[in-house]
Amino acid sequence: MKSHSTGLALYPGSFDPFTFGHLDILERGCRLFDHVVVTIANNSSKRGFFSPQERRDLILKCVGHLDNVSVEIFEGLLVEYASRKKAIALLRGLRQVSDFDYEFRMSFANRRLAPEVETVFLMTSEAHALISASIVREIHGHGGDISSFVPEPVLSSMLSK
Ligand code: ADP
Repeated sequence: MKSHSTGLALYPGSFDPFTFGHLDILERGCRLFDHVVVTIANNSSKRGFFSPQERRDLILKCVGHLDNVSVEIFEGLLVEYASRKKAIALLRGLRQVSDFDYEFRMSFANRRLAPEVETVFLMTSEAHALISASIVREIHGHGGDISSFVPEPVLSSMLSK
């Protein structure tokens, strides 16, 4: 229990699939904020590996040990959604320099649109620095072992798909 109120943060992304890298950022975000909403972007023009609903169900199975997380599917402009929910922050993870360029531009654009919502970056943990959802999909597509990249519920669901 945190001693004073630290508000609500959104953790936006595609989470296709949810990896140990995502879980790490989420667990650390949960120690900073009262509540974190994992916000799954529903990009209807792009067919993912898992549907947004499947992603939500899988994430819920991976976060049972966290009592201040919820998971929502969202479509539209993220900062509008954040303002509507009275979120004070967008939580993002940074892996390597190549993430920085995109995140830098996004955070400026978002701040211009909604100055009251801060973007908060957490640096990846060493063990997860090389994990990305697209690499996991690629390894899996070639029959490789992804068990060190994704939590168990995601692993069994990917193997049975
Ligand atoms: P990905 O880039 O893996 O497809 P998303 O679009 O779902 O992931 O990313 C959601 C957020 O999680 C982004 O801020 C991204 O930088 C962060 N993230 C993803 N993987 C990691 C990781 N291994 N370590 C730290 N942050 C990560």
